[in-house]
Amino acid sequence: MKILVPVKRVVDYNVKIRVKPDGSGVDLANVKMSMNPFDEIAIEEALRLKEAGKATEVVAVSIGAAKSEETLRTALAMGADRAILVEVEGIVEPLSVAKILKGIASEENPDLMILGKQAIDDDANQTGQMLSALLGWSQATFASKVEIGDGSADVTREVDGGLQTISVKLPAIVTTDLRLNEPRYASLPNIMKAKKKPLDKKTPGDYGVDVAPRLEVIKTEEPGGRKAGVKVGSVSELVDKLKNEAGVL
Ligand code: AMP
Repeated sequence: MKILVPVKRVVDYNVKIRVKPDGSGVDLANVKMSMNPFDEIAIEEALRLKEAGKATEVVAVSIGAAKSEETLRTALAMGADRAILVEVEGIVEPLSVAKILKGIASEENPDLMILGKQAIDDDANQTGQMLSALLGWSQATFASKVEIGDGSADVTREVDGGLQTISVKLPAIVTTDLRLNEPRYASLPNIMKAKKKPLDKKTPGDYGVDVAPRLEVIKTEEPGGRKAGVKVGSVSELVDKLKNEAGVL
């Protein structure tokens, strides 16, 4: 069984985001970038399936600027077998990513594609769902457990207030939730080995995909600052403020 894992290079989750002064987006100058955390979980899950003898090959894919090669090298250092980089400068919207991934799926014929549930840069939560629709494959989103059976996968999903287990036919699209696993760190020897693992370079044109944006970002804003608190003199004053000012009682 072959598993394809799309990984996105995003602003590191520890970085405090700065919005560009003109509100056109997030300032990426001199900002630490890393693999999208949900994609690390996706790679980890694919590797565990390989280690359990359920999968034979794990292929990492990234669509983005040339520097996304670093993200793919991280996936290779974690244990992926090979990588495909589809080079695109500028923003690539989820629909274009899904179309490119469809093209790669048609060439690679994976049995399973594991994506993150969302990329933490624009929180779109769209790519896996769009890809499943374009391919006509089953989808199991927000996975917290994946068990591979004979031609199918049982996936436990995190839903509001509980868990739901569904069975999907392979090939399928799975998207990862936070509790699926804890990704491993790449060891130094594996980081060195990853430099020699195969990495193919492609362009959107190789898959006949036009990546011109279809969405227009109207405005990007920082969250509003928190207002200072006030000290109240008594319980009755607190209750009065909760009732008449905050409107929560
Ligand atoms: P999104 O729909 O943008 O929130 O992204 C959901 C998931 O799709 C991510 O966690 C990745 O697995 C995958 N993905 C999105 N954009 C890219 C990209 N540019 N390259 C590779 N994978 C991507």
